[in-house]
Amino acid sequence: MKEDISVLIALQELDTELSGFDRKIEEKKQELTAREQAIAEKEVLAGQCKEKAAELKQSQRDIKNGSEDAAERIKDRQSKMMQVQTSREHQALLKEIEDAKKTIKDTEEELLQVMEQVEAEEAKAKELENLCTGERELLAEEAAKVEKAVDELNNKRLAVQEQRDKMARNVPSSLMKRYDKLLKKREGLAVVRVIDAVCQGCFMTIPPQKYNDIRLGEDIFSCPTCQRTLYYLPETEEVDA
Ligand SMILES: [Zn+2]
Repeated sequence: MKEDISVLIALQELDTELSGFDRKIEEKKQELTAREQAIAEKEVLAGQCKEKAAELKQSQRDIKNGSEDAAERIKDRQSKMMQVQTSREHQALLKEIEDAKKTIKDTEEELLQVMEQVEAEEAKAKELENLCTGERELLAEEAAKVEKAVDELNNKRLAVQEQRDKMARNVPSSLMKRYDKLLKKREGLAVVRVIDAVCQGCFMTIPPQKYNDIRLGEDIFSCPTCQRTLYYLPETEEVDA
């Protein structure tokens, strides 16, 4: 029985090492994903600026059309002036001409404002696009580095995995089944040490009788709270924990 528990302890160490590799690999990949997302968000923003610029250009055209209509109106009213007979009609035409002139003057200012807005949106889009191009280049370099690092981690991981599989073959299958099940259910921690009657997996206290049994180490015991397999090491070895 003592041999079984020591092989389980060794297995747990290897599995902890394996999940450490998995975590590191995942972290590296996530870092890239986060950077990719940040760039994609800026690209969306650049697209929005371009859309806004296009909308503004459309309203620029509308304003120009309004101004051209007003100019037409002036010509039309001026030619009608020649034919009017009453001073009331004359006054009315004059008023229309004045209004049209005012419209043209107003649209000039409006056009200037819209043009400035178009330029600002286009400049913003350009700036964002340049930024994204630069960041994409950097990201490509980083991705190559990450890929290399992940390959190295995977190679190291593979060596540990082989060691683990070899070791697992020597464990009785019923014990191995239980271990694997626990490992899955308990976030990669199936075998834990008991220190001062406290399970180091869930940090609950083990009842005194059970604690004594675990210390004797003549059987394999589980934590009554988290069901992890428990083992005891004398205090002197605690520095290794
Ligand atoms: Zn526990």
